[in-house]
Amino acid sequence: MSAQDSLDPKLRVRGATKIYSTASGDLLAIDRCSLDVHAGEIVAIVGPSGCGKTTLLWSMSGLHGLTAGDVLLDGRAITGPNPEIGMVFQDANLLPWRNLEANINFPFEIKGTKPDRLWIDELVHKVGLEGFGGRFPRELSGGMQQRAALVRALSFKPSVLLMDEPFGALDAFTREEMNRLVEEIWLETRTTIVLITHSIEEAIFMSDRVIVMSARPGRVANEYRVPFPRPRSLEIMATKEVFDLMNAIKLEIVGDQKSRFGHAASPVAQPAQ
Ligand code: ADP
Ligand code: MG
Repeated sequence: MSAQDSLDPKLRVRGATKIYSTASGDLLAIDRCSLDVHAGEIVAIVGPSGCGKTTLLWSMSGLHGLTAGDVLLDGRAITGPNPEIGMVFQDANLLPWRNLEANINFPFEIKGTKPDRLWIDELVHKVGLEGFGGRFPRELSGGMQQRAALVRALSFKPSVLLMDEPFGALDAFTREEMNRLVEEIWLETRTTIVLITHSIEEAIFMSDRVIVMSARPGRVANEYRVPFPRPRSLEIMATKEVFDLMNAIKLEIVGDQKSRFGHAASPVAQPAQ
């Protein structure tokens, strides 16, 4: 690989614009969003509810098209679902009539390909679901269902993992456990990850960069580097640096919303460059 190759982004979003046609007219969801994600990077996207985060992520996955702009994976335009890209949603989306093992096998059945048993067993072990293969989703807690969704997303060995508020419905303790689990998996696989979250703390714990989107129509408003070493211990997460970064991002999001309601925007700390 040449030096140039390693500098080319894994995932490149250029001028992504999406207009939904609705009963009450056209709705501009995201407007000229551009961002690069490099191989092995974890990027978190935060922003007010309804600002187009999910719209942007679905565009990255090829699950829906853009009105303008494009998304490139390794320099090639994404025009539909791609096996290089794994997805985890807020709901685990497990099929209720299939047990856990059959759920994990489902995408392989659809594609008519053979699952890599060794790799899946390793993933199941890593997420702590060994021995639960015969259980049905209703017999599993929310956290366990998300663990299964994570195994399913990683079972294809995707080079990119896209996650849309994956742990938003879990209690705070389970959520932290899941964050540590993803961090552990990332430390081993270095999968490129884009994570949408409404928790700024989660964004800082997980990512190398936090991208802040403005209120709808969503635009990339700012980006903050997260310079803390991994694994990110409780001690690191309790430092003043983390606290300051968290507040800077929070103020930016709140400031953006305030200015829309006619109040002066709060001063925002300068992002680390
Ligand atoms: P977020 O994930 O940041 O909450 P979304 O991407 O879900 O935002 O939505 C952005 C805007 O687009 C919202 O106003 C939402 O109501 C609208 N929207 C999302 N999906 C559709 C759709 N399929 N059809 C029409 N409008 C949509
Ligand atoms: Mg969303």
